[in-house]
Amino acid sequence: MGVPEQILEGLAVSPGIAIGRAVCLESRDVEVFRIPIRAEDLSAELDRLDAALVAARGDVGEMRRKAGADLGAKLAGIFDAHRLLLEDPSFAGKIRERIQDEKVNAEWAVHKTTEELATLFAQLDNERMRERQQDLLDVSRHLLRSLGAIAHHELSEIEGPIIVVAHDLTPSDAIRLGRQNVAGLALETGGRTSHTAIIARSLHLPLVTGLAEVRELVTDEDPVIVDGSSGRMVLHPTADSLESYRELEARLRGEEDRQAALRSVRAETSDGHRVQLLANIDLPEEIEEAVLHSADGVGLYRSEFLYIERSPELPDEDAHVEIYDRLLEAMHPRPVIVRTFDLGGRKLARDVLHTQEANPVLGLRGIRLTLARPEIFEIQVRALLRSALNGHLRVMLPMIASVEEVRQFKQLVTRAAAQLRAAGVPHKDSLDVGAMIEVPAAAMVAPELAREVSFFSIGTNDLIQYSLAVDRNNEHVSHLYRPLHPGILRMVRSVVEAAREHGVDVSLCGEAAADPRVAPLLIGLGVHRLSVFPGAIPLIKKEIRSHPLPRLQELAAKSLRLATAREIEDLIDEYLDRPFDGPGGLEAAG
Ligand code: PEP
Ligand code: MG
Repeated sequence: MGVPEQILEGLAVSPGIAIGRAVCLESRDVEVFRIPIRAEDLSAELDRLDAALVAARGDVGEMRRKAGADLGAKLAGIFDAHRLLLEDPSFAGKIRERIQDEKVNAEWAVHKTTEELATLFAQLDNERMRERQQDLLDVSRHLLRSLGAIAHHELSEIEGPIIVVAHDLTPSDAIRLGRQNVAGLALETGGRTSHTAIIARSLHLPLVTGLAEVRELVTDEDPVIVDGSSGRMVLHPTADSLESYRELEARLRGEEDRQAALRSVRAETSDGHRVQLLANIDLPEEIEEAVLHSADGVGLYRSEFLYIERSPELPDEDAHVEIYDRLLEAMHPRPVIVRTFDLGGRKLARDVLHTQEANPVLGLRGIRLTLARPEIFEIQVRALLRSALNGHLRVMLPMIASVEEVRQFKQLVTRAAAQLRAAGVPHKDSLDVGAMIEVPAAAMVAPELAREVSFFSIGTNDLIQYSLAVDRNNEHVSHLYRPLHPGILRMVRSVVEAAREHGVDVSLCGEAAADPRVAPLLIGLGVHRLSVFPGAIPLIKKEIRSHPLPRLQELAAKSLRLATAREIEDLIDEYLDRPFDGPGGLEAAG
């Protein structure tokens, strides 16, 4: 009899169904996949391990020789400890056993065995043994590097769709995996609006997060199901479950085809008020999809992905120009809003600027980093000034908290324009500059900011994080991450009022705009430009076309008078379930 079906409940982060073989991924210094090895290939895998042990011993010996000469006996002693471990037959024996018993690749066996031993050492009541933990991890790194040099295993060896199972994934991991034969992702950690979640949606990769210890539960033998729409993962599915999920998958595909009819119609309320529905773009492959769904422009191009994809290299000026021109051409004559690099802390600051921050989300991020290192960001600004000649380009600043930041950025623009002039490169002399409203203080000084910029874009992903003090990446507090918190709605409303009063445009580009329960309310609050990931355009357009504007305004007015997110959520649920034009719809709900 097979193992009984097991259903795990997590967070529904990126919609869709994925059925495939689970492959565990450990992302450390060197990435380690668990790859099943066929019985007939096991002896070759053991040979790989032996060759790697020899190579690693050689490397360590070489390092020891150098250390002995240049750095003294203490450091040389560390390498002696590493060599002893690599020569220890019981250490190698444990790894060999794992390869044979679990029929897995040598990398996985090395990683798991050293991890287990390190945990064991950490628990010992002996300082010297506890110190050996570090030696073990170092030895594991040597071995993995040596294995990498000997015809290493690739995901592409595995036939059919793959579900990657990991503790967490960086956005760049998600990009790389999404472009291979990966059909879905199941993670132990992560919130709904993390950048990894955003990338999963961009690449149509179903993703469930918050699956505690899922890496310990999955096996290679049978397929798993990831249901990114409900937040479930099914292990050891029965034949019935597989069939019903395959049917559901086909139904969802059919829904996408039905949505094709929406491509040629406008985003407007049922009583004819036009709403601009723009696209958020992270990766070049999304441009085509945005055009396909007739996006009214690009409401947010996250330019930092240009760097994230090339990291640790920074893109040069021409690489910036190339992508901006591509966006402008695809959208012509519609607007393209390029956000300047929103990097910091974990990315760029650490790799390129060599800073280490204990709390990067509150650190040198976004506009702060731009202003701290103008010589790096002038490259981007020069590119923007050049591309501004080629279409309707608008430039948006991330993480603005005060008016001075906008003014300083304008000085940077003036300097970059002077450099281009001196070099005789064609360019515009100024940029159409807007501010992201994603720091609560920016919402509070919106009237003053409105005198400095020509548009606002409300970034609810961070605005919620910073206003409610809830980490957007943390699954433990995801229940507190509430777009419909009255504090957030009131802030959105006051930004809209400031924008109206001063004649600046206001849009909203956080993930809340792509939520069909939230988008109608945002329109009611006066946000008539929404920017969403391309795949969400049909659904949100359909939603917009279902409601008359006065009813949405009424819904917003009622919501603003409620005290809790729960009350607002209930009001919306009740409203959306009713015939909107029928008598008593909202009144009865309120
Ligand atoms: C936001 O914060 O809402 C936003 C759109 O920016 P990002 O998700 O890139 O932080
Ligand atoms: Mg943000």
